Amino acid sequence: MRTADEYIRDTYDLYVGGRWTSAAAGKRFATVDPATKEPLAEVAAGKAPDVDRAVAAAREAFPGWRDTPPDERGRIVHRIGQLVREYRDELAAVESVDQGKPRSQAESDIEGAARYFEYYAGAADKLEGTTVPVGPDQLDYTVREPYGVSAQITPWNFPANLFARGVAPALVAGNATVVKPAEQTPLSTLRLAELCAEAGVPDGVVNVVTGFGDEAGAALSSHPGVDTITFTGSVPTGQAIMKRAADNVVPVTLELGGKNPAVVFPDADLDAAANWIARAIFTNAGQVCSAADRVVVHEGVHDELVERLVDRAERYDLGQGTDDPGMGPLASADQLERVTRYIDLGREEGATLATGGRALDREGYFVEPTVFTGVDTDMRIAQEEIFGPVLAVIPVADEAEALAVANDVEYGLVGGVFTADVTRAHRFARRLEAGNVYVNKWFGDTNQTPFGGYKRSGIGREKGLEALDSYLQTKNVAVNLADDDG
Ligand code: NAD
Repeated sequence: MRTADEYIRDTYDLYVGGRWTSAAAGKRFATVDPATKEPLAEVAAGKAPDVDRAVAAAREAFPGWRDTPPDERGRIVHRIGQLVREYRDELAAVESVDQGKPRSQAESDIEGAARYFEYYAGAADKLEGTTVPVGPDQLDYTVREPYGVSAQITPWNFPANLFARGVAPALVAGNATVVKPAEQTPLSTLRLAELCAEAGVPDGVVNVVTGFGDEAGAALSSHPGVDTITFTGSVPTGQAIMKRAADNVVPVTLELGGKNPAVVFPDADLDAAANWIARAIFTNAGQVCSAADRVVVHEGVHDELVERLVDRAERYDLGQGTDDPGMGPLASADQLERVTRYIDLGREEGATLATGGRALDREGYFVEPTVFTGVDTDMRIAQEEIFGPVLAVIPVADEAEALAVANDVEYGLVGGVFTADVTRAHRFARRLEAGNVYVNKWFGDTNQTPFGGYKRSGIGREKGLEALDSYLQTKNVAVNLADDDG
């Protein structure tokens, strides 16, 4: 197996109009390996003038791509998926070293990325309108048309996978795109843009402007040449983007994270519940918007469940993502600072550390899998998204309290219930304030299932056929059939 070093270049430019081009200001920044803090490459720091060029390239390319016959668009997008599979080892190696995640998790992300292109490719020639029966004197029909230029601002937790999640439906619907990847993890995105070109995507239809959020990201989300914005990341950044979108009256799709409850009842299979919950909070070192950050457990099985969760947490081996350990480092120094701050806060608030709680005394941004018990729903560690491998266990007395605690946060992305009682499972699924509910499992989402948040977890849906709605606008056409002249 080749290592990431053999794939990564020393420097990367912006990808605009089908060409590599340096940033106008000529500046670059380093992207680092979070397991060693070693720089991996120097990447162009794009700013407003670079965003101008990228949006102009996308605007110029848009009509040609819109007018490409849909079956041909579908074939090209499908070919991207095939190329992602062909270069799976390279993409996974690069993702693992740039982001820090275990190699096998990176491979699964890349598999998911290929699936997005394959899945949406098949929809390209099925984006049908309707005829509307308004009476004998008018033929009335709708057509679904692309918006134009789709801005995609992506985070650092699943860079390649989330590129595909947004770009695949945008392209299939006939939009051109400008992508601004997170500054911590730009490498897989740049390679994916090249693969889009290799698959036959015309120049200018997929552009990548690397750079910082407050420069490239702010310029892109406020650009008057952008017709729709897709963003995944934090709530404050989502709010800022939405305000800018309001200035230009363009729609936003926002996926903003969660504080997701896993609710465990006494009749649940506790071994299975502990396995799912451990996976749900320690995958990608907890840096997952749909992580199970809170366990809401009936007091009758509290101790038995905690014992199992501690056992699972302590089995994780930590190491460099490329060695495929159970858990890799956090993605950045900021993340290490954030997560350790929350662990300190949990202690100060009076929660009990059942296991973990320390940053490792070694190079890189490593934090132990951590379980807090004795957590009260009012504590900040029970309310705020930590975005790390930190689980908060909250005991409850009955089903009514479990539901109240589960919903007692400003977020509403996902939630899960573990029980053998099918009636209770569905009752809970109905009452949980979340866009996605898992019963006796976690991470039940696939490329085909709509995904997105209730409450402050976001607006709109990604994945599934529903995601296409974010990239299409409806035009109604009314044709006079009457023999009248107005
Ligand atoms: P962020 O929201 O600031 O960054 C996400 C993306 O937005 C990056 O590409 C970034 O460059 C860009 N961005 C930042 N500021 C911007 C601005 N003013 N205008 C336009 N774009 C901007 O997230 P972060 O600071 O990297 O992470 C902080 C927290 O966000 C995390 O700890 C976590 O709670 C949350 N987060 C959630 C997700 C998710 O999947 N929902 C992903 C990443 C981070």
